[in-house]
Amino acid sequence: MCLVGNAMSSRPAGSKSRRPQIIHSLPTLTRTLARWRARRERIGLVPTMGALHAGHIALVKRAQRRADRVIVSIFVNPTQFAPTEDLKTYPRTFDADVAALARIGVDLIWAPTADTMYPQGFATQVVPGGPASVGLEDAFRPHFFAGVATVVAKLFVQCDADIATFGEKDYQQLKVVTQMARDLDLKTHIVAVPTVREADGLALSSRNAYLSAGERATAPALHRVLTDTAGRIAADHPIAAALTDGGATLAQAGFVVDYLEARNADTLAPVHSAHAGPLRLLVAARLGKTRLIDNIAV
Ligand code: AMP
Repeated sequence: MCLVGNAMSSRPAGSKSRRPQIIHSLPTLTRTLARWRARRERIGLVPTMGALHAGHIALVKRAQRRADRVIVSIFVNPTQFAPTEDLKTYPRTFDADVAALARIGVDLIWAPTADTMYPQGFATQVVPGGPASVGLEDAFRPHFFAGVATVVAKLFVQCDADIATFGEKDYQQLKVVTQMARDLDLKTHIVAVPTVREADGLALSSRNAYLSAGERATAPALHRVLTDTAGRIAADHPIAAALTDGGATLAQAGFVVDYLEARNADTLAPVHSAHAGPLRLLVAARLGKTRLIDNIAV
């Protein structure tokens, strides 16, 4: 994992260096937002599950350019994890997260407890369709997008956000959240931020911390295969053959591939021709116990 380093420590000129306000309760959050609103300040939100890295920091910096006040939410959302997944072991680095956000002048950290988010008797879910049911992440994590859509809708409302930044790293999630905000007439405008990568191409992810040294050395093959496959498709090689070869290369490198697919970049519908509009290659593959996802434009 790329921890808090120099790339994360620069601060835009004129921003504050003080510790962000850390809020755990909804009434306190609402009171603070009312003060900002009274001054007609625009609010930007960066939803995260913590264990912050330079990818998250890029989202914060983009939000700071688009809003007067930036809230970073830190909440490891239980409803988007299946019982077999890594909720218990998900990395939690709250103190380091606060320090990193202080260095870049974040105003407020919204860190609700699970009981605040889901009080006893909570019984409502946002169940997204469209890009949430195209046979990619949804095929392998059937409850994931309902968990994400529900918590993100709540965060948008709680934080009264004008804009929210999301990473292209989680491309299907970006599409699902954008569609949900549009369909529910939420006033929060979604801003997409390109994927931040290590020098060897591996997309930064909190879950990279799970990789052993050997797996970490193998992991950049994911981005290499995406790049090679995208290049072949752009050069008019048949899509199916390029994907089959890419999948075989990943398997040889030691990955168990959940999917490697070319999709319409807007709708995520399957495509069979490189001329069927803008394309996106999306991959999910497991290295040992760690599941990695990535995507690039063709
Ligand atoms: P997470 O904390 O992993 O749930 O991610 C919170 C936000 O950070 C999501 O919008 C992710 O897409 C985004 N994000 C995670 N990794 C990266 C990355 N390497 N580059 C850009 N955004 C990222």
